Amino acid sequence: MIKKVFVAGHNGMVGSAIARRLRLDAQIELVTATRGELDLENQESVNRFFVRHSIDEIYLAAAKVGGIHANNTYPADFIYKNLLIEANIIGAAHQYDVQKLLFLGSSCIYPRAVTQPMREDALLTGVLEATNEPYAIAKIAGIKLCESFNRQYGRDYRSVMPTNLYGPGDNYHPENSHVIPALLRRFHEAKVSRAQEVIVWGSGKPFREFLFVDDMAAACIHVMNLDDATYKDKTEEMCSHINVGYGSDVTIRELAAEIAKTVGFEGKIVFDTSKPDGTMRKLMDSSRLFSTGWKPSVDLQSGLAIAYEDFLSGKAREV
Ligand code: GDP
Repeated sequence: MIKKVFVAGHNGMVGSAIARRLRLDAQIELVTATRGELDLENQESVNRFFVRHSIDEIYLAAAKVGGIHANNTYPADFIYKNLLIEANIIGAAHQYDVQKLLFLGSSCIYPRAVTQPMREDALLTGVLEATNEPYAIAKIAGIKLCESFNRQYGRDYRSVMPTNLYGPGDNYHPENSHVIPALLRRFHEAKVSRAQEVIVWGSGKPFREFLFVDDMAAACIHVMNLDDATYKDKTEEMCSHINVGYGSDVTIRELAAEIAKTVGFEGKIVFDTSKPDGTMRKLMDSSRLFSTGWKPSVDLQSGLAIAYEDFLSGKAREV
């Protein structure tokens, strides 16, 4: 039987990777909508969309996202828009009888000073990192929306918490992006202009775990398709989400050196400690997911090479 699967956020980095993979499945009819057709921040618009299409499954990858600077600068947008998007889609999913949904959260839902690697049951056990607290609160609300519809109405709304993601379709904005796209761009521009040095924010000491976006898409589809008993066995009633990580992390200093190598920049790397470091470490404990038979397949070096190709092809498109 053909399933109608809606990917919310199909133009974003993760949504487009999920859509690319779902298109390979002949049993799936992919449903997407442009911003003009569907305003996810408007409940009426979302409801009309659900009436028009009888959807079987939803991947909720739509979100307002950004790096440490964007989160610090636009906190109201990050909490308000994300709450609206989640509430509108999850509410309409239930109202129009969609039984299965996968909500994409973020590793920043975990407390700032949490034991590493971060386990799923660390949720709501401490104070959040201040730089992205509003975004994290919205993502926690998304998990709780799913849990609550499951408890009250017997829905099967699952949540995955990805670590830092990167890859084709990333946002290469110089200030508002995440560290990998920001540094790919900065090192590339330094190489082209033959600059002597590149500035990297913070001390270089924080650790981050990075997962290639096509691996994330594969993990999402894997979790959506886990049988009910396995998913329930891997999650807890009051903590019904599952971590998606790579399994190991690197320091920002190591990452910067790897990106310099990928791009072919041979100058000096300078750390600007007037810029925030954010959380010192946020390595996911992904052992629950790994125990279901899924593993990432793209290492950082190969993933950075693909991401750099994507950045260069984007530059070519701009010309
Ligand atoms: P975070 O994981 O939520 O902190 O997100 P980011 O990807 O924005 O930042 C990760 C780490 O990289 C932080 O310690 C930043 O200070 C550091 N970093 C170094 N250079 C940059 C940069 O140019 N842009 C961003 N966004 N982060 C940078």
